[in-house]
Amino acid sequence: MKKNFAFLLKLTAFVFCLSGLISAQKLDGDRKMNQPVEPFKIIGNIYYVGASDVTSYLITTPKGHILIDSGFAETVPQIKANVAKLGFKLEDVKILLINHAHYDHCGGLAELKKLTGARLLASPPDAIVLEDGGASDFRFGGDQAFSFTPVKVDEILKDGQEIKLGDAVLKTYFTFGHTKGATSWTTDVAENGTKYKVAFISSVTTLDYSFVDNPKYPTIAEDFTKTYQTLEKIKADVFLSSHGGFFDLTEKAQKLRAGAKTNPFIDPQGYQSFVAQVTRQFEDKLKAQQAGKK
Ligand SMILES: [Zn+2]
Repeated sequence: MKKNFAFLLKLTAFVFCLSGLISAQKLDGDRKMNQPVEPFKIIGNIYYVGASDVTSYLITTPKGHILIDSGFAETVPQIKANVAKLGFKLEDVKILLINHAHYDHCGGLAELKKLTGARLLASPPDAIVLEDGGASDFRFGGDQAFSFTPVKVDEILKDGQEIKLGDAVLKTYFTFGHTKGATSWTTDVAENGTKYKVAFISSVTTLDYSFVDNPKYPTIAEDFTKTYQTLEKIKADVFLSSHGGFFDLTEKAQKLRAGAKTNPFIDPQGYQSFVAQVTRQFEDKLKAQQAGKK
């Protein structure tokens, strides 16, 4: 009995250290993604107001603005300062959108909603997770380290829905898989007399998810497959996404600041390569998991 107790103590200490190590690594990673960045105009009426890797976009119109993604709860002061630096008012944000309901993108939504008074629009599956602070997320639900302040959703989006504010029109694409309700948008802008399609692509990576017999998300493989088909059909000129690393945010911003002749964010090839790469990664993983189950 005594021996068992000592073993139990050791085991508890080990598990505690391990979880301490994991959350320390996670915190470190979070901080790296949340470094301040000088805000800038990307193209047309679209501005970058996010952090070094967790992105946030401001789409301005004379009738108010649209803000996509809040970053972490800790990103909100940066967004606030960035919007002001660009000469816009946070109170003029009328619509809040979220690419997917994970704490590194939606953690600050509750605070941003308070600061702006804007309406939050989300897909049906993500709305549930946003409103329960991540508790019902199929992968991270129940893990405190991944929870966030719950936020009320004001309008449920439909696939293909056009979101209109002033002269801005955003088309909604359901790109489910990374979360059950991950969502992307496109909009058209003009620069130097040329029209460009801008895509705001949700996280579409597969993390450590299991695709075969997943009781918490039975349609996960079908959803991912559909998502990659949807992405392939989008003819994006300007590729933006939820993490800067997906589209070389830092490098492109540097080129833009250095006075690049053509806007480095106009990168249809980069978009196509990204879609091909994530599709292939998913297909390989799916095949391996299916083979493992046999
Ligand atoms: Zn995520």
